Amino acid sequence: MKIGKMMKHLSIADIRELHGRLAQTRIRLLDEIQAAEADIRTAHEAREGEGGIGSDVSEITRFEELRRAEIAIDEEQLRSIEAAEARMGEGRYGICVNCGEPIVRERLLAMPAAVRCADCENRQAASSAGDGGERLGTGR
Ligand SMILES: [Zn+2]
Repeated sequence: MKIGKMMKHLSIADIRELHGRLAQTRIRLLDEIQAAEADIRTAHEAREGEGGIGSDVSEITRFEELRRAEIAIDEEQLRSIEAAEARMGEGRYGICVNCGEPIVRERLLAMPAAVRCADCENRQAASSAGDGGERLGTGR
């Protein structure tokens, strides 16, 4: 793997470790998304079987909403994992996208997909409180 000079604060072993964790997390997220989508399909089939009558319908809808919310969260995480993997390929991994300083190793090991140093993350959280940032469609 090519190690950019910007990633000097991480050893090759660190990058291998982080690369492996990103890949594992990506696979887990994809599995979770698939499982949630299968649950929704099952719920739909159950509802059709019921003919839409009875108190079960609102239960199913609430269940579906929860699953959809989980899928949205997983998809967001998935995007950040993929972005981190892309940065790794470009040798820019572990560099704060905001200030350009290296993100400390401990932070990356705790959050392999982190794109900002702790300082910038805190500032970002403070300035955009209540706003989820960019939103991409969660349906398909
Ligand atoms: Zn920063």
